[in-house]
Amino acid sequence: MNFRGFSYIVLFVCTLIISTPSTFGWDETGHKISGYIAWQQMAPEVRERVIAILRQAPEDSQISTFYLTYGSRSEETRKREFFMLMTTWGDIVRDRNFPVRFKNYHKDDWHYADGLWTTKNGTVENLPPPANGGKAVVKMADLDAVIRGKASNAEKAVAIVWLEHIIGDIHQPLHSSSRVTDLEPDGDRGGNSFLLSPQGAAREQQVNLHSYWDGIVRRSLPNSSDACDEAYVDPIAQKIMKKYPFDKMRTRIDSGNYTGWARESLIASQTQVFSPDLVRFQMPSNNYRKKALTLSEERLALAGYRMAALFTQAFGDAKTPVAPLP
Ligand SMILES: [Zn+2]
Repeated sequence: MNFRGFSYIVLFVCTLIISTPSTFGWDETGHKISGYIAWQQMAPEVRERVIAILRQAPEDSQISTFYLTYGSRSEETRKREFFMLMTTWGDIVRDRNFPVRFKNYHKDDWHYADGLWTTKNGTVENLPPPANGGKAVVKMADLDAVIRGKASNAEKAVAIVWLEHIIGDIHQPLHSSSRVTDLEPDGDRGGNSFLLSPQGAAREQQVNLHSYWDGIVRRSLPNSSDACDEAYVDPIAQKIMKKYPFDKMRTRIDSGNYTGWARESLIASQTQVFSPDLVRFQMPSNNYRKKALTLSEERLALAGYRMAALFTQAFGDAKTPVAPLP
């Protein structure tokens, strides 16, 4: 997300979805959907602890400034929307207009894991990961330990927002995938170099496979009236929860198996993203888009449920008392 030119105040008014395509992970819509689902799944005391910790974040992270302490909407709504917005903090900190925040918090390689692979005679072959690959899996495990351990609430706050973001990212199939081809001998960087726009299209008109998947919800269900989250994101997330209720997904939570979560995405990429009907330099068919949306809805539901399970394990049942705000 690029917040250039927007003051925080503007964000607070309505937490609008800003239509800037991202090539870094689910777009804002996707991330917020996983946040909404997690929030619905978290017990009130878990929500309260998470919010209380987030509000004690280090000042240079600016995390607490995103929480609106006043307004016409209920406190419950403001807390939920704060939690949902923080699923995008990992992208918010990419903004170089906030140089201190950028320097202290932006981590390019925390957003993905490298599943390097290729096909030989039509068969998928996994390759050894590159030396300087994505750190998403390792970081999720590290941050998990931080929120369960004895770190300060300030450190836990930063860990929570990173977990909110990376858990979302790792469920986007292309965040675990780098396909090696003759054209991309070092891998296609999560489909970033696999163009769907016609060969020779001007740079500003290019669409790549990665950004196509990042924005699949919005591409399929456009926010044509610039509606607020409550009117746009929340109903989409509610439909996804109906389609993929927790009881149906319960056996797949697989808490703490971050390698396994990334592997699911890699397999989805190998079998469903790069399906035979996907052709370089061609926009995918309507049928492909529908399949992509269905898979993404399932992945976003899992991301939300897994996020909720993690925060419940860390902060549920008064396991981690939180000092009251001063
Ligand atoms: Zn990301």
